[in-house]
Amino acid sequence: MEAPTEFPSVTFSDLATSSSAAPAAAVFSVDSSGKPRLRFVQTGSAAPLAELDLETTQVFRVGPVDLLCVSEEESGGNATDEKLCSKAFKVGFKTKDECKGFATAFEEWKNGRSSKDGASLENGLIVPSKSKFDSKIEATSAKMYFHYYGQLLHQQNMLQDFVRTGTYYAAVLENKSDFEGRVVVDVGAGSGILSLFAAQAGAKHVYAVEASEMAEYAQKLISGNPSLGQRITVIKGKVEEVELPEKADILISEPMGTLLVNERMLESYIIARDRFLTPSGKMFPTLGRIHMAPFSDEYLYVEVANKALFWQQQNFFGVDLTPLHGSAFQGYFSQPVVDAFDPRLLVSPPTFHTLDFTSMKEEDLYELDIPLNFTATVGTRVHGLACWFDVLFNGSTVQRWLTTAPGSPTTHWYQLRCVLQQPLYVMAGQQITGRLHLVAHSAQSYTIYLTLSTKMWGVGAEQGGVLQTSTGKLELKEPYYRLSQPQSYGASDQQQQTVQTQSMPPQSKHQNLQGPALVSLLSHK
Ligand code: SAH
Repeated sequence: MEAPTEFPSVTFSDLATSSSAAPAAAVFSVDSSGKPRLRFVQTGSAAPLAELDLETTQVFRVGPVDLLCVSEEESGGNATDEKLCSKAFKVGFKTKDECKGFATAFEEWKNGRSSKDGASLENGLIVPSKSKFDSKIEATSAKMYFHYYGQLLHQQNMLQDFVRTGTYYAAVLENKSDFEGRVVVDVGAGSGILSLFAAQAGAKHVYAVEASEMAEYAQKLISGNPSLGQRITVIKGKVEEVELPEKADILISEPMGTLLVNERMLESYIIARDRFLTPSGKMFPTLGRIHMAPFSDEYLYVEVANKALFWQQQNFFGVDLTPLHGSAFQGYFSQPVVDAFDPRLLVSPPTFHTLDFTSMKEEDLYELDIPLNFTATVGTRVHGLACWFDVLFNGSTVQRWLTTAPGSPTTHWYQLRCVLQQPLYVMAGQQITGRLHLVAHSAQSYTIYLTLSTKMWGVGAEQGGVLQTSTGKLELKEPYYRLSQPQSYGASDQQQQTVQTQSMPPQSKHQNLQGPALVSLLSHK
């Protein structure tokens, strides 16, 4: 055990006797029968204050530097009644770190001997030993996430993305030498399709790890394909938590979300690499790239801005709605737009940012800060930044790319556009600089901070000054699906309904733009 066994300067008070907090030391140990125990001894006198059996003790955080130890104490006496009583002790620490360290040590000592963790009592927050996944992802988010992937219709949606599934199939089957006789781990196996591909390519054994209820369906599918299935083991659980009997020669996974990083599953892919892959092992996919370019799309801009027009009514059943127009306007611009667009809308050649899955650290995905520098090829209004991604399967025989670029065959990821409230004017040859800053959050997604600036151009350009700057804060978890079919994770039922009513053929969308609304919005600043 790595956690300290002794915390020499805590304060201790017995809640039953309401005694004042005494300076004490807390000591973890195992008794002669191998049971983990926690002893409190008074500082100076070494007098024992309490000795607790960790198997029947729980710890709760009651303040930033205070914990409550609740124990079913057996040593209280012979009467049955007394045996049933709980004892509670408040333990105070000097610092938050010390408090946290104690909670960790408590769980380590407790779990070393007992598997009873994670239970909770009514009045307080238990401090469980959490996996890397649980400690950074909100439980409610994870519950919805795995519920989504537990449904066959969503797996079908991915399987039916022919570009996606076909590229994986080709990448695996064209690189048989990377799979033949090898141990494979399928990270987030879903229906088990990639495990079956790996088995087709001659894998010695495939561990299909899947956290959602889909694991049961995967088992069914795999059992129903016995010639391949006999070499596949389905393991239900998170890759952060499950144990595998052997190391893998190759990982296969489809961890990509919108803008590559949405869903934060790449982090699980990296953790799986560190936990399961041999040092010389391969990863399919090997790397991913986020591509970015400024775009000009007057129709999209007006469509987004128009959504807030509702709030410009001054007499809505006698109520002036305009006080909320600004907030609504901002709200609509905080939604990244997901759809397929014509690459001719791009204002300059794209740049890209590479994520090397074989060498990057999991923490590298908590925050991505990407500097932007483009040269406009046309004079136009820039409405924001268009993004897409691709991934590489760096096989020993064939290198294959799966791309979601505009103009390439459409995938269920489509492309993503961050629309700025304030468009920028550029001339051909003018430089556009900026920054795309992605900050991960506990709801398995990212907050997007986008800045685009136009650089001084023509006479005086040598000074390099900035002419205009436009910024936006967007929420990757709340995209606006501008298409009706099909959707990747993140499209809630409500959003799907919105899509159905709002996605009209392009012609009718364009018709919407006629009239005074267009004029007023084009001049919106
Ligand atoms: N590999 C399948 C499914 C891809 S979707 C295919 O290509 O069709 C991603 C899958 O990974 C989902 O089924 C999801 O439940 C699972 N998943 C996501 N994070 C996981 C984690 N940390 N541990 C285990 N499974 C995970």
